[in-house]
Parts: sequence; structure tokens; C-alpha cells
Amino acid sequence: MLTLKDLLQDENTRRKYEAIKNMAGVGGMRSSIYDVNNKCNLRCKGCFYFSSDQDKVEDQSDLGALRAFIEQEKARGVNYAILIGGEPSLSLDRLDVWYANIKCSAATNGLKKIDRERYPKMRIGISLWGDDEYEERLRGKNTFKISREHYKGDPNVYYLYTITPQSLDAVETVTKKIEDSGLRVHYQLFSNDQHEAGFDWTPQLYAEAREIMDAMLYKYGHVVVSSRYYHEVLTTQNMLGRRFGWMECPSVSETVDGRQPRPKRLMGFNSIGSDLKTVHRCCTSVTRDCSTCHDGAATMSWIMVNKRDHMGSPQDFAHWVDVTHMFAKLYEFVPW
Ligand code: SF4
Ligand code: SF4
Repeated sequence: MLTLKDLLQDENTRRKYEAIKNMAGVGGMRSSIYDVNNKCNLRCKGCFYFSSDQDKVEDQSDLGALRAFIEQEKARGVNYAILIGGEPSLSLDRLDVWYANIKCSAATNGLKKIDRERYPKMRIGISLWGDDEYEERLRGKNTFKISREHYKGDPNVYYLYTITPQSLDAVETVTKKIEDSGLRVHYQLFSNDQHEAGFDWTPQLYAEAREIMDAMLYKYGHVVVSSRYYHEVLTTQNMLGRRFGWMECPSVSETVDGRQPRPKRLMGFNSIGSDLKTVHRCCTSVTRDCSTCHDGAATMSWIMVNKRDHMGSPQDFAHWVDVTHMFAKLYEFVPW
């Protein structure tokens, strides 16, 4: 086993490692995902939230019960809440309670603006599927145009851009529009949960997607929050000769994780429904096929929890540091 001194060979990696070295240890980041509500103002093609009936839970609207639940989660060790939905912007009374009681970020479709004066420190991630026309086609509204206007120049907002096999040509245009709006972007790949025709990845399309993401990172590095190694793992679903999937995934909810042998995983991670009781299988949905899952957060976390396996050479370790630093930026452990 090489020592840290052997592994940290360049100044850039050393600097990043210093910034993130406490994130995974005791007292580091402990996140979980929460559905703020069970409604949405869109019906996107292929949305797993509705197709997997995650909206069918008995929605808990009592703010006192929410307050008590947050205390219970904090007692469990959670110190960062990732708020999703449904659509968080439709339940500001609940967002108020989350914001007042725990560090949190919200994922929104951007259609209804989350008032920035009400939540000045809240990191916001906007889901994005493509350029204006594409959003209109897949989501029924041009949410990209609307969200750019809502959040223009906001330093604490980024787009979570899900690249589909049909929209590779648009990645640069979209990235440029995000740059022009003074915002940031992080990429992931579409998972074809609903088996939509024409939305499957092929080796050729994976290679193109990787090349494009690498080029965007090179050209728009001040806007794109990413890493080349993340692109490699995302498009090959392979890491150090291992294949991503159910038996490797770090983002299975701890409460329902009966896997044997249990892989390295995010400590204490659960994904919880808006009844504040139902524990979803993982950070996506029970209907998703793990063998074709391209969830960005699960992929990043997979790399991150397997630190030891990246300690065989300075190059592998630099890859690990790069991805973990990117994760730390997205989830506010270090500044952008
Ligand atoms: S915005 Fe999100 S929750 Fe709403 S329909 Fe689209 S994918 Fe589903
Ligand atoms: S669907 Fe994706 S995130 Fe969920 S358990 Fe499978 S691999 Fe993990």
C-alpha cells in the first residue's frame, strides 16, 4: 500500500485532497434524500417519480410532524438534506421548516421560482433535459427558458443536465446558454426507464457523449462542474474493472439494504417519501433497471466510497480526488 505522500504527487491534487479529506470521515458529510411533497407542475416523459408510484404515499402536511421528523433524522446523523419531490417549489411552508432546521439543497424543475431572499443560502439544482425545443417536447413546457430567467446570475444555482442519446448535438448550445446566464452545469446521462424508442445508449453513443462532456469541461471549465474520470465511469459503467449495478451501488437506502455481501456504501443514506415514513429502494426508483442506471450522484458516490481501491497508484488516486472534489462542490462541502 502506498502512503499519501507517494500518492499525492502534484500540487493540484494535493490542494484538492486537503480540501475534501474530512468529508468522508467521522463528522463528515451524511446526506439523505427527502420528497418534500407528492405533486408536480409537469409530467415529463419517462419520469420515474410518477411511474413508480412514489406520489401515492399519504403526503404529510403537518409542519410540526415535519419538524419532529427532521430532529429524528439529525439524531440519526444526517447533516445534509437533499430535497426533491414531487416539486419542492410548490410547498414553501415545508421548505421553510427544512431550511430553518438543517443544511439543505433543493432540486426543482425551475418552472416556479424559489424566492432567493427567503432562502438566501440554499443551493438549488435545476433539472434539465435539453435545449428549449427539446424541453418543450419532453416536458410539455420550455422550462429551460423560464428557469434561466428566474435564476440568471445566481451564484448558488446549477443545472443538473441529463443528456439523452438524442440530444448530443445540443450539449454545447445548452452549456453556452447556461454560461450566458451566469449559472453552472453538471451532467449525467439519461436512463431509459420507460424503454422509450430511440433513447437507448450504444457503444458509439457512449463514446460520443464522453468526448462531448470532456470537450465541454475543457472549454467551459468555469461553468461545467465535472471531471474526466467521472465521464469515463459514467459512459462505461466500469470502474477499475468492476461493473456498476445493484451489487455495487452505494446509494441504496440503508434501512432496506439487505445485500450480501454488502458493498461499500454511503453511511446512513436513505431516500424517504413525503409521508416521512416510506423508504424508497434507492436514490432513483424501484422500477429502474440497475444494469442501465446512469444516475450521476450514484456514479460519483460509487467512486467516492471506493477510496481504498484508488490508492494503488498516484494516477488512480488523482482520479478519486478529482471526483470527490466535484461531489464536494456540488453538495457545498467546498466552494465552487
Ligand atoms: S419535473 Fe421531475 S417530478 Fe416533475 S414530472 Fe418532471 S421528472 Fe417528474
Ligand atoms: S437504480 Fe441506480 S441508483 Fe438505484 S439501486 Fe440501481 S444502480 Fe443504484
